[in-house]
Amino acid sequence: MTTAALELANVSKIYPRPARVVALSGIDLVVAAGESVAVTGASGAGKSTLLSILGTLERPTGGTVRVAGIDTSTLSDGELSEVRATRLGFVFQQFFLLEHISVLDNVATGLLYRGVPARIRRERAAEVLYEVGLAGRIGHRAGQLSGGERQRVAVARAIAGRPAVLLADEPTGNLDSATGAGIIELLRGLAGEHTTVVVITHDAEVAAAMGRQVHLRDGRIVTGDRGNH
Ligand code: ADP
Ligand code: MG
Repeated sequence: MTTAALELANVSKIYPRPARVVALSGIDLVVAAGESVAVTGASGAGKSTLLSILGTLERPTGGTVRVAGIDTSTLSDGELSEVRATRLGFVFQQFFLLEHISVLDNVATGLLYRGVPARIRRERAAEVLYEVGLAGRIGHRAGQLSGGERQRVAVARAIAGRPAVLLADEPTGNLDSATGAGIIELLRGLAGEHTTVVVITHDAEVAAAMGRQVHLRDGRIVTGDRGNH
């Protein structure tokens, strides 16, 4: 049996303030290595909360979260940061690029926390920029790029450290549909033997492009928790 990339067992998340909200409840979810999964659901269904918990950015109120078989509740905050830096990559709706530095440096900076020497960082950044189709934009400043190109830079930055799992929260939310489709194709293409991809979306077309769909309603999984439906 191979170890699941991500495994949630009976996970709940309750926000006590400013009003008590049960954001997630009774979540059982196993994502196998190499899968591409879309998490769908209406606004407020708990999608971003689920992504934060999968990505160890937040701890659950109850239940168990395993990343690559490691029970994250046994880890200190420092050890969790290490797990994030070495195993997980994140892409958000906002691109969070440094507008005034080059595309190459935006991506290379993502490797700073891994203690990679500067020359290797830049080589690796150039490699992943090529992978996302931006070989011709390496010397541009991020501020000179289109929205779709910016999101490709953000994807390159997220995969530069070769994470086992790539987590994306509404990555096409700021893009027109044709540009967004290109980003989804890119994410789908990254999933495979070495990379697992989880994409949060409220867009049915985006969801259909992924290998599996998990649908959330009021903090619970209503379909998709046990493989393809
Ligand atoms: P989605 O991403 O599907 O729109 P979220 O996961 O962001 O949903 O939110 C789920 C529910 O949890 C919502 O009712 C939201 O208001 C609440 N919520 C999310 N984050 C917080 C927080 N940090 N503090 C309090 N309530 C929150
Ligand atoms: Mg959200």
